[in-house]
Amino acid sequence: MSSESPMLEAVDLHKRFGELNVLNGVSLSVPRGKVMCLLGPSGSGKSTFLRCINHLERVDGGRIRLDGELIGHVERNGVLHELPGRRIVHQRQRIGMVFQQFNLFPHLTVAQNIALAPTTLRKLSKSAARQRALELLDRVGLRDKIDVYPSALSGGQQQRVAIARALATDPKLMLFDEPTSALDPALVGEVLAVMRDLAADGMTMVVVTHEIGFARDVAHLTAVLDGGEVVETGPSERVLESPGHPRVKEFLKHVR
Ligand code: ADP
Ligand code: MG
Repeated sequence: MSSESPMLEAVDLHKRFGELNVLNGVSLSVPRGKVMCLLGPSGSGKSTFLRCINHLERVDGGRIRLDGELIGHVERNGVLHELPGRRIVHQRQRIGMVFQQFNLFPHLTVAQNIALAPTTLRKLSKSAARQRALELLDRVGLRDKIDVYPSALSGGQQQRVAIARALATDPKLMLFDEPTSALDPALVGEVLAVMRDLAADGMTMVVVTHEIGFARDVAHLTAVLDGGEVVETGPSERVLESPGHPRVKEFLKHVR
């Protein structure tokens, strides 16, 4: 796709859970190689937004494009049709996701956790997948942990493995949902450092976090959700230093 098209473009996303409107027309766009921080009070729809991008939830309206390609749907004569599950599985490989609770498989070693998607979805040979796991572990500084089980790792190490695992299918976009919120404060820095390196390598990322320092130093863009709507979006320094919206001012007071 052309280098001008945004890597992620979400247009007018709507999502309901029963009577509850959780996303009320969310439009956000992240250029290639940029990092967007997503802030907002609890319940504002941040996780739902990420889950819709990654097809963990089905949207009730709106369009999502990854690198110019419509995801989850195909458009015929202006009408959206849902893609079959196997096509969605394929598209989802282009999006890596990291959760608050690292979600590693406890019965698999670090190498097996990382190699699972590449071997099952991409038919990579076992030896090639192990080689790839080693490269990814190098990137997150955990090469020596390749054959241990998650329970032998600290929370920060587990989250770094989860990041390596999310990178294993060569995603074009990485989504992080409060990746450091479950960590002991002493372990937050090592995870943020890995994310900072990823950003420096040019990965396009959307990061839900309360780490305002990360938003200020690493994220090119910051968006604020409130009640399922984008109430503020723009360059991080502007949004964080001089937010226009009173709710955002209020919110930022509490997270500083
Ligand atoms: P945030 O991540 O900003 O805290 P969420 O996206 O998790 O917000 O949730 C937004 C709203 O949607 C909340 O009111 C939450 O209770 C509701 N919600 C989220 N997931 C579901 C679900 N699977 N079923 C019903 N309600 C849900
Ligand atoms: Mg959430």
